[in-house]
Amino acid sequence: QPKNLSPQVFTSMMKGSMSISVNRQILLNSRPQGEPKPEDFRLVETKAPVLGEGQVLCRTIYLSLDPYMRGRMGSAKNYAKPVEIGGVMEGRTLGEVIHSNHQDFAEKDLVLGPGGWQEYFSLPGQALHRVNPEWKPISTSLGVLGMPGVTAYTGLLNIGKPQQGETVVVAAASGAVGSVVGQIAKIKGARAVGIAGSTDKCQYVTDELGFDACINHKGENFSEQVEAACPEGIDVYFENVAGMVFETVLPFFNNFARIPVCGTIAIANATELPSGPNQIHMLLRQILTKRLNFKGFIVSDFSDQEEEALTTMAGWIRKGKLRYREDFVDGLEQAPVALIGLLKGANFGKLVVR
Ligand code: NDP
Repeated sequence: QPKNLSPQVFTSMMKGSMSISVNRQILLNSRPQGEPKPEDFRLVETKAPVLGEGQVLCRTIYLSLDPYMRGRMGSAKNYAKPVEIGGVMEGRTLGEVIHSNHQDFAEKDLVLGPGGWQEYFSLPGQALHRVNPEWKPISTSLGVLGMPGVTAYTGLLNIGKPQQGETVVVAAASGAVGSVVGQIAKIKGARAVGIAGSTDKCQYVTDELGFDACINHKGENFSEQVEAACPEGIDVYFENVAGMVFETVLPFFNNFARIPVCGTIAIANATELPSGPNQIHMLLRQILTKRLNFKGFIVSDFSDQEEEALTTMAGWIRKGKLRYREDFVDGLEQAPVALIGLLKGANFGKLVVR
C-alpha cells in the first residue's frame, strides 16, 4: 500500500483494477507517410488501469472514429498535440462505470470522455460527462447529439448564417457533420445541396435527409452538375473536404458568400503540394472581388453554445426534422482499418466502433 493513501482508498483502487484482468489497447506504432496503413497501429494487451483517487474506471461500449485522428497521428503543427509514438490512440468514448473513486459517479453509470482506443479506461471524474438518458440510442451522444452535431450547428449558424431562399452547399453530405449541416439549412428556409461520394449516398441525402439535390463528386461532369444544382449560385459553402471539390465549387460562389472552413479531409494524407499552376493568386482575387468571407473554426470555439445546440437538435430529432445514420464496426481490432476507410469515404454515416 503506498504511504500517501488511506487504507479505504487503497482497497477501493485494488478492487477497481482487480475486477478486470486484461486491457486491450491500440497504440500509434509509427507516423504514417501519406495514407495510414494497418502497420501504423499496434494492438497490445496490458494490465488493467489502476484506479487513482478521484478517478473512475470504465468499460468502453462505443469508440467514436473521426477524421481529426489522422492529424493526431502526424507530427505536423496542428491545433492539438499529436499522439506520441507508442501512446494510446486518442478518441472519444462512451463507457459504463465499473468502479468509481469519484463522488459524482457510481457503478453502471453511462459516461462520455476522452477514453481513447482501448477496452477499459480510467479518467479523473472531472473529465467525464454523464450520458443524457433521454437521448436514445445512446450512441448518438458521439454523433448527431455529440461533437459532430455541435460542429455542424455552430459552424453553420455562426459563420454560414443561412438565410431564407439562399443556397447552402456541403460536401461529405451523408456523414456525421455534413448531414446535419444540410438539414439545418433546410430548417432555416435555405436550399440544401449536398456533395457525396456515391450514388447510394446521394440518394440517401435527397430521399431520406430531404436535401434539394446531391451530386456525386466521383461521377461524370461534376462541375456542370454543381452549376445545374445551384442555378442562383452558392451563398454558403460549408467546407468539409477541400481538394478537387473546393476547386470545383469556387467559381459558383456569389458575392458576399460565407464559407465556414470546418475540415480538409481530401488533403489529410497529402505529402506534397498538388501539381499544376499555383492557384493562390486566383483564390485571393476571388475573395477580393466577390468579398468572400472565409472563416476557419474548431468546435471548441463555440463551447458556450454546446448545450443550446444539443437541446435544440434533440428537439428536432423528436419532431422528425433531423435524421441521422450511424455506421458501426464491431470490435476494437477493427478500428485501424475503419479509420483508414473513413479517410477514403468507406463509411456511410457516423462511424462508431462497438
Ligand atoms: P464523415 O462521417 O463525413 O466521413 C468523412 C467523409 O469525407 C467520407 O465519408 C467521404 O465522404 C468524405 N471524403 C473523404 N475523402 C474525400 C475526398 N478526397 N474528397 C471528397 N470527400 C472525401 O466525417 P465527419 O462528418 O466526422 O467530418 C467531416 C469533416 O468535418 C472532416 O473534414 C472533419 O475533419 C471535419 N470536422 C471538423 C471539426 C472542427 O471542429 N472544425 C469537428 C468535426 C469534424 P464521401 O464518400 O461522401 O465523399
